[in-house]
Amino acid sequence: MRRTKITATIGPSCDDPIIMAKMMCAGMDVARLNLSHGDRETHRQRIRLLRKTSQEVGIEIGIMLDTCGPEVRLTQLDQPRELKPGDYLVLTRDDVPGPDRVGVSWDGIFSMIAPGHQLWVDDGNLVMRCIEQRSNALKLEVVVGGILKNRKKISSPDSTWPLDILTDRDRDILLMGIEEEMDFVAASFVRSAEDVVAIRKFFEVNRFDPLIISKIENRAGVENLAEILAVSNGVMVARGDLGVELPPEQVPWLQKDIILQANELGIPVVTATQMLESMTHNPRPTRAEVSDVAHAIWDGSDSVMLSAETASGQYPVEAVQMMAKIAGDADARREYVIPRARATSRVADAVSRAAAEVADSLDARAILTSTATGYTARMVSRSRPSVPIVAISPSQTVVRRLKLTWGVFPLSSDDAEHSDDMVAKAIEAAADCGYVSDGDLVVLIAGVPSGIPGTTNFLRVETVSNPVLVGTGLGYGEPVTAVVRFQPSRYEPLQEEPYIAVAIDFDSETADFFRHAKAVVAERSGRTSDIAVAAITMGIPAIVGVEGARTRLHNGQIVTIDPIRGVIYKGRAKI
Ligand code: ATP
Ligand code: MG
Ligand code: MG
Repeated sequence: MRRTKITATIGPSCDDPIIMAKMMCAGMDVARLNLSHGDRETHRQRIRLLRKTSQEVGIEIGIMLDTCGPEVRLTQLDQPRELKPGDYLVLTRDDVPGPDRVGVSWDGIFSMIAPGHQLWVDDGNLVMRCIEQRSNALKLEVVVGGILKNRKKISSPDSTWPLDILTDRDRDILLMGIEEEMDFVAASFVRSAEDVVAIRKFFEVNRFDPLIISKIENRAGVENLAEILAVSNGVMVARGDLGVELPPEQVPWLQKDIILQANELGIPVVTATQMLESMTHNPRPTRAEVSDVAHAIWDGSDSVMLSAETASGQYPVEAVQMMAKIAGDADARREYVIPRARATSRVADAVSRAAAEVADSLDARAILTSTATGYTARMVSRSRPSVPIVAISPSQTVVRRLKLTWGVFPLSSDDAEHSDDMVAKAIEAAADCGYVSDGDLVVLIAGVPSGIPGTTNFLRVETVSNPVLVGTGLGYGEPVTAVVRFQPSRYEPLQEEPYIAVAIDFDSETADFFRHAKAVVAERSGRTSDIAVAAITMGIPAIVGVEGARTRLHNGQIVTIDPIRGVIYKGRAKI
């Protein structure tokens, strides 16, 4: 079962609801929309189509809006243009008309870039050098050529630009995102904790609270990583710009560093950019790309991301399918999946680590978490348990926002009133969706009372099954699974098949019927009843005081009894 989540960028290549549906069925967990491309209304239509399609296919997805942030892009370029080293190019103000010109989205650049400074275009694929600076134009000479396309990003290793963390365009489109109930904001070029706080303020003013995923993609972001993570809800290793602003050879270990810190904090981390890049134009990825995805997962990524592959590529569905296959295989190599939960004296840390350990040692089928805010599920995810973490939440928002967290399968359910109710509801929801079935052992964890984030303090082990009947277990012996036999009027030891003797009380006439039984269930109550005394004397596990045993059970039915707790389950239950 795949545990790693898939984030896929939505663009012109996925504008068809059939393609969107196929991407969801192939494993897209979160849909990302990049505000640097496309206008507000196009993005709105895409979000609406995504939600509608998601409802139709019955697969919940999260919606992520990725800001432009403090970036500068080329504008007004109608046609892609091929540039060779030595060619000249003039960058002018966005609003200066004229043929054959290239505009730029930020006027400040004309005072910041001086002769001799370099400009990098499209993640460093093209390199230019400034040879002349004017008040509203820059003359550039091409150093490294290539195809120049509209809305490609430009940056400079020679100057830092004082731009707001949110552009006007960002604010405008994010307001639409609020109306459409977005789930995540991917904050581009975060430089400090202050930047994150500024974004949070923007949302606070607009009374909305999405998860803020800080994109680490420049030197300041790397230098201030710890303070940024402390105020973020998640993080993205945005390798495209990171490898432009810092030497690309540093990206592999920065990726590991960022992931490790996010894992320890229990916030989701997305590894992004060029993961299956060649699939933009080819139906198959390179081996190096496949290996990159697997290693990003083994580094501890919660989610791996597709960019141009799905947004503007020729094989959006195949790219998601391929990603899902690689992730499924990588996740199955348990020896490379590294738990990152820390041993601390915090209750939430200890309980969530214990849940994973208990699930492993009891060979449980799943860890069920009842979670009002998603916090408990994220805490358990850090332990990278070998079984699925089924997170049950009354909030549909929480369900969507857990779509970024490794190993968590979120489900919605009604609010629970008390812990027994919560346990029952969690098991029912997980069983309804096929994550667990009768007889499975599950580990439940939660914060009690519910609704208060940070209180992960409750751990319980349960067998999935509707107990058929309950009585008083005499308190010794192993659980027994066998066929039910009612006490006959005369007992002949004919059948060799192990059975559970069901009777009202002990009857000396049929003592052999009890003697040959694997276990005894009796209607008569009390530890001093004849039947209890007989069972104890014969050393047979027994449950007494089971009202209606002979009407509620039937001859020949298979049941499992737990003689310690006095519970009778239908079928073969694992206790
Ligand atoms: P970022 O640095 O924020 O990732 P990017 O330009 O690399 O910006 P991606 O979101 O990574 O953009 O997408 C990769 C490419 O897919 C883009 O460069 C663009 O060509 C195309 N693309 C993405 N979204 C759209 C869109 N909404 N409309 C048109 N093209 C898009
Ligand atoms: Mg961006
Ligand atoms: Mg990109």
